[in-house]
Amino acid sequence: MADKRDYYEVLGVSKTATDSELKSAYRKLAKKYHPDLNKDNKDAEAKFKEVNEAYEVLSDAGKRQKYDQFGHAGVDPNFGSGGFGGGYGGFEDFDLGDIFGSFFGGGFGGGFGGGSRRNAPTRGESIRMSLVLSFEEAAFGCSKEINVTRTEKCSSCGGSGAASGTSAETCPTCHGQGAVKTTRRTPLGMVSSSSVCPNCHGTGKIIKTPCSKCGGSGHERVSKKLSVNIPAGIDDGQTVSLRGEGNAGTNGGPSGDVLITVSIRPHHILTRDGTSVMCDVPITFTQAVLGAEIEVPTLDGKVKYTVPEGTQTGTVFRLRGKGIPALNSSRRGDQFVRVNIEVPKNLSKKQKDLLNEFSKSVGEDSYTERKSFFEKLRKK
Ligand SMILES: [Zn+2]
Ligand SMILES: [Zn+2]
Repeated sequence: MADKRDYYEVLGVSKTATDSELKSAYRKLAKKYHPDLNKDNKDAEAKFKEVNEAYEVLSDAGKRQKYDQFGHAGVDPNFGSGGFGGGYGGFEDFDLGDIFGSFFGGGFGGGFGGGSRRNAPTRGESIRMSLVLSFEEAAFGCSKEINVTRTEKCSSCGGSGAASGTSAETCPTCHGQGAVKTTRRTPLGMVSSSSVCPNCHGTGKIIKTPCSKCGGSGHERVSKKLSVNIPAGIDDGQTVSLRGEGNAGTNGGPSGDVLITVSIRPHHILTRDGTSVMCDVPITFTQAVLGAEIEVPTLDGKVKYTVPEGTQTGTVFRLRGKGIPALNSSRRGDQFVRVNIEVPKNLSKKQKDLLNEFSKSVGEDSYTERKSFFEKLRKK
C-alpha cells in the first residue's frame, strides 16, 4: 500500500485534468490492459487494477478532493473514514460495458460492414465488477452477495418488443433479412452491394405497436442479487466469473458473464506471496540469546514457537502448512516467520553497568561471525 503510485501519474494526466481528459485517458489504458486482451500477461492485470482504482477515485469529485488533500491516505479504506465508501466487504460496481462492448459483442462486429447481420444472434455483454476481500476471506474462500444491474429480456413482451396481444412482423422490405441488395450499373459492369434495410434498420422485424414497458427494445434493466463463491486461495487481481449472468443477448444469443476481479485488503501483520505467508516478529536480545517461546500470529490464530538458544536477528523459521491453500487443491503453503532482535533503549546507569560487566565476561569465541569477519579483515 505504501508504495502506491500517484493516481494522476497512473492515468498519465495532469493534476488539473478535466473530467473528459480523465475519462479518455482511462478508456485508453483500460482497453490496453484489459485482462481479457492480455491473457498471458500477469503485469497487465495489475496495471488494469491500478488504472481502475485511479479512475475510480479521480472520477469522483468528492474522492478526488480528498485525494488531492490527503493523498492515498484520504481514499484508502484502511485509513477509516472517507475511503471507498463500501467499507468492510464493500465493493465498487463498475460496468465497463460501454467500453468493452465491442470485444464482448461476438457476432455483432462483423455485421456492421455488410449490414446484413444485424439480426444475427448476438451474445450479451459481460459485466465487470470488483470485489474487495479481507486477507482471510481470500485465503479460506467465502460466499458473497453482489448486486448486478443487467439487461434482461423484457418481462412484459418476452423480448419481442411488441405490445401484448400483438407480435413483431417480418419486415416486408427485406423479408426479415435485415439487409437489402442494390444493384448498380457501373462502367465496369453490374455491381451489387448489400446495405442495412432502411425500413427495419437491420432488425428484420417491424413492430407496429411497441411494448409499453420496454418501448420496443425487448430488454429491460433489472437489478439482481447474485451469490458468488470465492474459492480458497484466490489471489489479488484474479477474476471469478459467473457464466451467463451478464447482460442478455439479442436475437436469441446467449447472455454475457459477470466477471468479478478480486482485490485483497492488506492484513495488519501478515503478508502474502502466492501460497506463502510472511511475518516479522520482534524479539528481545535476551530471548535471542537464551531462546524463548514466542507467540506467532497465523491464519489459524496464534501459535507458540520456540526460538532456539543463540538465534541471530533476521533468522527465518518455517511453519509448515500455515500458509494459504493452493487454488483448487488440498495443499497449503507455509508461513515464514522472521525474527528481528530489538535492542533495548533508555537503559538506566545500573542496567548499562550490568551489560558492560556482561560484555567483558563474554569471550571472542562466543561471537563466531564477528570473529571470522575480523580474521578476514586482517588477512586483506
Ligand atoms: Zn417489452
Ligand atoms: Zn427490413
